[in-house]
Amino acid sequence: MKAIVMMRGKPGAHAFDLPEPRLSQPDEVLVKVKEAGVDGTDYNMIKHNLQDIAEGRNEIIMGHEMVGVVEEVGRNVTSVAPGDTVVMTVRRGCGICQPCLHNQSDMCMTGLYTERGIHKRDGYFTEFVVDQEQYVVKVPANLAKLAVFTEPLSIAEKGITQLRTIQSRFPWACEHRGHDFLAPDWGGCKIALVLGAGPLGILAASLLRLAGVYTFVADIVSEDSPKVHLVEQMGANYVDARGKNPKEIVDLCCGSAGRLDIVFEASGAAATAVELVNYMSRSSIYVMTGIPREELLIQIDAAQFVRQIVRYNQVVVGSVNSNRSHFEAALKDIPAINSRFGGLLDEMITHRFKLRDYDEIFSATDRQHIKTVIEVDIS
Ligand code: BGC
Ligand code: ZN
Repeated sequence: MKAIVMMRGKPGAHAFDLPEPRLSQPDEVLVKVKEAGVDGTDYNMIKHNLQDIAEGRNEIIMGHEMVGVVEEVGRNVTSVAPGDTVVMTVRRGCGICQPCLHNQSDMCMTGLYTERGIHKRDGYFTEFVVDQEQYVVKVPANLAKLAVFTEPLSIAEKGITQLRTIQSRFPWACEHRGHDFLAPDWGGCKIALVLGAGPLGILAASLLRLAGVYTFVADIVSEDSPKVHLVEQMGANYVDARGKNPKEIVDLCCGSAGRLDIVFEASGAAATAVELVNYMSRSSIYVMTGIPREELLIQIDAAQFVRQIVRYNQVVVGSVNSNRSHFEAALKDIPAINSRFGGLLDEMITHRFKLRDYDEIFSATDRQHIKTVIEVDIS
């Protein structure tokens, strides 16, 4: 079968032929990949030649966002059957720590996990995949067309679950009991700033908007960019961060109350991300999800930094990867986002390629570009 791989000692993406995987255990599922999504991690893997190939192998199949159809199941499999549309999670636990032993490998404590398409395990830019049932999530039939967003949306779901859980320490954020961080309408009376209007930033902002959060999204593109259009389509406000320092960006977002409740970092712009901490509001939370590469040295006033975090009861939390529960949450929110915000998800897919276009896929970086989907099989 055809695949897009990274090869040891050979930078870039390459086409490769591999044998089709087969079922070998009773709890396994064979899936035919239909579509795969490309995201920042894939671009960074190519750009910075980040290779994490399993020992004894010379290549790794790329790709960690997918939707497919079940071809065959082992005899113990009960939750999916041939013909079902499914998505598959990314991380495979270390098998040692308690989170990994309890379906929470996104919180792995040893770092010995693997990730499909990223760390040591073959990914989804290929035709067939085999995995255990526990990593395969059934997609309602009417969502097949948008299910390629499940994985990236699951990353946003986890970040927002983290912030709600942590901020539930603070039930008196406003006078309305219905706006408690764990309540369904938790977003009322809250202001958020999302950094980065790439796919993750847009998806995170759309979840905040669904919850009723007054949301700003900052990026460094001009007003006529399709990203700005999507931000406005969901009823969020675009902040053109070009030529603005972090204080100016935050001042723009703080309402009359002068506070910003949530910062969600999805740009990987490390210097701005760190400098923004200085302008967080009291008792507020900052969720970091972008993963900057290379090195970036800046000067900060360490005393001020620590003093402020302590005196203002602030939280800065990192959030990476996602588990099955976040995939399930994403599948619930996909139709809500797309219908509430005028087909936002359909519009996000700006580029479509075939698996054979491996040499063009990673160079699609024109101004119109938001999200690339690879069509593996469109029959
Ligand atoms: C993926 C995550 C993964 C992370 C780090 C992201 O692009 O969505 O599932 O954990 O990269 O490898
Ligand atoms: Zn673990």
